Amino acid sequence: MAIPKDIRINLANEDIPKRWYNFASDVPDLAPPLNPGTREPAKPSDFEPIFCKEIIRQEGSTERWIDIPEEVREALISLNRPAPLQRAYRLEKALKTPAKIYFKREDMSPLGSHKGNTALAQAYYNAEAGIHTLTTETGAGQWGTALAMVSNLFDIDTTVFMVKGSYMAKPLRKTIINTYGATIYASPSEQTEFGRKVLKEHPDTPGSLGIAISEACEMAAKNDGVCYSLGSVLNHVMLHQSVIGLETTKQMEIGEITPDVVIACAGGGSNLAGMTLPMIGAKLAGNKMFENTRFKAVEPKAAPSMTKGEFKYDFGDTAGFTPLLMMYTLGSDFIPSSIHAGGLRYHGMSPLVSAAYHHGYLESTSYDQTETFEAGVLFARTEGIIPAPESCHALKGAIDEALDAKAKNEERSIVFCLSGHGLLDLYGYEQYLNGTLPSSERSDY
Ligand SMILES: *Cc1c(COP(=O)(O)O)cnc(C)c1O
Repeated sequence: MAIPKDIRINLANEDIPKRWYNFASDVPDLAPPLNPGTREPAKPSDFEPIFCKEIIRQEGSTERWIDIPEEVREALISLNRPAPLQRAYRLEKALKTPAKIYFKREDMSPLGSHKGNTALAQAYYNAEAGIHTLTTETGAGQWGTALAMVSNLFDIDTTVFMVKGSYMAKPLRKTIINTYGATIYASPSEQTEFGRKVLKEHPDTPGSLGIAISEACEMAAKNDGVCYSLGSVLNHVMLHQSVIGLETTKQMEIGEITPDVVIACAGGGSNLAGMTLPMIGAKLAGNKMFENTRFKAVEPKAAPSMTKGEFKYDFGDTAGFTPLLMMYTLGSDFIPSSIHAGGLRYHGMSPLVSAAYHHGYLESTSYDQTETFEAGVLFARTEGIIPAPESCHALKGAIDEALDAKAKNEERSIVFCLSGHGLLDLYGYEQYLNGTLPSSERSDY
C-alpha cells in the first residue's frame, strides 16, 4: 500500500513565491484611511514619523503584484517556508465524514505562528532604510516574539511594549523575547510621556493594546532611526501574508484539490487575508479552481467584528491616535472579554478583509471559546498537534463544515489555515480539561 499522495504536500525551496499578491488592485471602491483632524484622505507624509518609505508605498499601492526581495525569500526558509499542506485523515475518521479536511501548517514556524511572514519583510525594509530600532506593541505575545526574532536576521534592535496584564500572566513570553535579544517593557511604562501620564492617573491599570500602541508610536516618532511596526490590520501586512495563500494554491494544484470552502480565523485579519485574498483574486480573474469555492472567516463570540459589527470609519486603536480606517468595527472603545485567543481580541478588522466581506466575497461566523477548545482537544487527540487558541476557531469552522457534509452525505474539500500552535498558551487547555473554562459570549455589542 502506497502512502496517499495528498497526506502532506510539500513544496521545494524555490517554490517560495517570488511576488506578493495585493488585493487592493482587485477590490472595487476601497475607501482610503482618513486623517482624523481634517477627515481628508491621509497623505503619505502623515505616516512618515513612524513608518519607512517603502512600507508607506506598499500601504498605498494598488499594483497587483509586488516583487519579494531575494533576501526576504531566502530568510523565509528560516521560518520553515514553504509550509506543508496536510490532510487530517484521523480527524476525518473521528468525525465519520465523507469530507476531506486539509490544513496549511503555519504552526511549523519556529515562532509558532504566521506572524513572522510580515515581521521579516518589515525588518528587511526598515534595515534597508537605515533604521536601527523597531518598536511595537504585543498583547498575547506572538507578534512581539516574531519581531524580536526576525530583527536579528537584519541586524536591528526591537523594543516591545507588552500589555501589563499579559506581561504578568505570561512571564515566559518575556524570556523568549529577551532570549532573542530584544528589549521588553510592561505597558504602561516609564519609558514614554504617554506611559508616565497613564501611570500617574491609573497606577494599577493592567494596560491595553491601545495604550501599548501609543507608547510604541511615541517612541518611534520622537527618536531618529526608530520606526514602528504593526503585526496585522494594515494593507502592507495583508500583502506580506499572501505567501500563505499563494503556496496553498500551488499545493492544491499539485494535489488536484478543488476547494469547496477555505477557512481561517480572524482577529485583525492577516492570516485570513494571507490565506484567502490571493484565492479570491484568482476567482475574480476567472480561475476555474475557485469557481465554486466559498471563503469563511471565523471570529470569537467575544469580538465578532464582521459578524456583528458595523462597516464605518473608526480608529484602529483605543486611544484614537491612528488614522480613521474604513472597516467592520464594534467601536474603538469596545473591550472584548479576556478570552485565551488573545490574537482575536480586536475591535476592528483589516480594511481589505472588511472590503472583501462587504462585497460578499467572504462569509463569517463566530464561536464561543468553550466550543473552540473542544475542537482543539479533538485535533490534538487525532492529529497530534495542539492548535493555538486562535487557530482552534478556524478548526471548529472546518469541523462544522465536515459535519454538515456528513449530514448531507456530500464529498466536500475543506481547507483551513492552522495559523499557529498552542504550546505557549496551555493555560486555556488546562481550564478546558478541568472544567473551569468560562464562556466568553456577551450580548451587548
Ligand atoms: C495573532 C494571531 C492570530 C490573529 O491575527 P490575524 O491578524 O487575524 O491573523 C491568529 N492566529 C495566531 C496563531 C496568531 O498568533
